[in-house]
Amino acid sequence: MFLKNCLKVMTMDFDVVIVGAGAAGIAAAIELQKTNLSFVVLEARNYIGGRAFTDRETFISTPVDLGASWIHSFGSRNPLYDYYQRLGKDDQFDYDDEGGDALIIDYNGRPLLPHARQRAKLVLSRLYDRLDEFAGNNCNSDDQSIEQVIQTVYEQLIESDEQVKRIVDLSRSGMEQYEGSNLNNLSAKCWETGGAPGGDRWVSCGYGTLLQRICKEHNIPIRLNTLVTHIDTSDTTRIAITTSDSSSALLCHRIIITIPLGCLKRNTIIFEPPLPEWKREAIDLMGYGLMNKLVVQFPDCFWGSSTRTIIHACTVRRGRFRFTICLPPPSNILIFFVTGTFAKELETLTDNEILLEIMTFLQNIFPKRTVPNPIRYKFSRWSQDPLAYGSYSNFAVHSNPQTIADLAKETADGRVHWAGEHANSNDGSENWCYACVHTAFTSGQRAAKAIQNQLNNS
Ligand SMILES: Cc1cc2nc3c(=O)[nH]c(=O)nc-3n(C[C@H](O)[C@H](O)[C@H](O)COP(=O)(O)OP(=O)(O)OC[C@H]3O[C@@H](n4cnc5c(N)ncnc54)[C@H](O)[C@@H]3O)c2cc1C
Repeated sequence: MFLKNCLKVMTMDFDVVIVGAGAAGIAAAIELQKTNLSFVVLEARNYIGGRAFTDRETFISTPVDLGASWIHSFGSRNPLYDYYQRLGKDDQFDYDDEGGDALIIDYNGRPLLPHARQRAKLVLSRLYDRLDEFAGNNCNSDDQSIEQVIQTVYEQLIESDEQVKRIVDLSRSGMEQYEGSNLNNLSAKCWETGGAPGGDRWVSCGYGTLLQRICKEHNIPIRLNTLVTHIDTSDTTRIAITTSDSSSALLCHRIIITIPLGCLKRNTIIFEPPLPEWKREAIDLMGYGLMNKLVVQFPDCFWGSSTRTIIHACTVRRGRFRFTICLPPPSNILIFFVTGTFAKELETLTDNEILLEIMTFLQNIFPKRTVPNPIRYKFSRWSQDPLAYGSYSNFAVHSNPQTIADLAKETADGRVHWAGEHANSNDGSENWCYACVHTAFTSGQRAAKAIQNQLNNS
């Protein structure tokens, strides 16, 4: 009987196993396809793309990204540039967020007055000076949060004029939106380190769709619905991988792990022997933010068909419903970007409660119009997703580019490789950045090339 059960489990042996079919895993696979190494990609979800996920069902003919939507640092040096030119358009839906109007408004829908904007600009330039001064003068001293560093200057300069204060806060919450976190968590030493330089390009077909088309073009071998649970490197010749698919056991010489930082923080894969201390420290130290998208479709475009974005200075709380993308008719969709603690709090509400928050907000900024009832909606909840546990990484207080280098560094005598948006170590190039789809892609290419070099030399 025992023998019979053993025979049922098929053992498969590969040169390389890649864990995760997001941008990093896909890039590693494309790179390995250029070699004669045998490999397979294991993906726990039932789709390819990970945190680049396009919903093509809810809004019928409009593809909507619930994760990444812009190719940052868009240009010929971006590894996704050529793919976008060939595969990134959509036959039915074409949207470009460039052009059109930005509606920049106060909490009550009124315009922000020029004199208040001017005053706010002065205050902000002093806050940025303070941050530059701290980052420049504190190479050896302890890190602090951005909030801590600017707080005193902020309190000294901020005026009794409430609108000036709201505009300054609107700008401060821009940093928070970008990082998916709050200023009291973010490193002042690393402010402006590793941000994506250059322009952005909205992917009309959806960023998730683009990644799927890339996989199709390369015909990459991906096993979906396969959750990796254990990785055992105690045997020095073969790495043993346990998955949710009990009918097969996997062995390999090298492995590339691309699962999100949020999963590493929660130990969703058990390593035998456990990861070294320095790797665990880096995992714990690096910040990991939350951005959610609340997508709501209306029967008409009551905000005005030429409006492409709504930027709102909140009076209740910094950054609340700060930024909204407007898709024009016939889509008539608003995409609310919510981040940090506000996003976390919203995740605890029911869909109906979130809708109520949104409708109250819209009625406040469009007081003269009757906001119609929505016809469809979809809300992401990335921090509750067990295959992501959040959105993307950032520099939390005390983390720095060395933390990313440690996250990217091999373990188990160079047999376990690491890639992903959080593991794009600084290659010294002018355009280096992290936390994005294209940089996750670069990290996967790097890991695959390193394996190729190792195995060629051995
Ligand atoms: C709301 C939001 C907006 C964003 N906006 C942008 C943007 O506009 N532009 C941009 O460039 N970036 C953006 N990002 C960040 C971008 O999505 C990520 O940086 C990028 O997609 C990460 O790619 P990755 O391959 O590192 O990870 P992932 O895409 O998360 O891929 C990792 C894969 O591993 C799988 N996995 C996890 N655990 C296991 C396991 N145990 N076994 C097997 N498989 C497993 C996951 O299911 C996942 O598919 C955004 C992210 C979010 C959430």
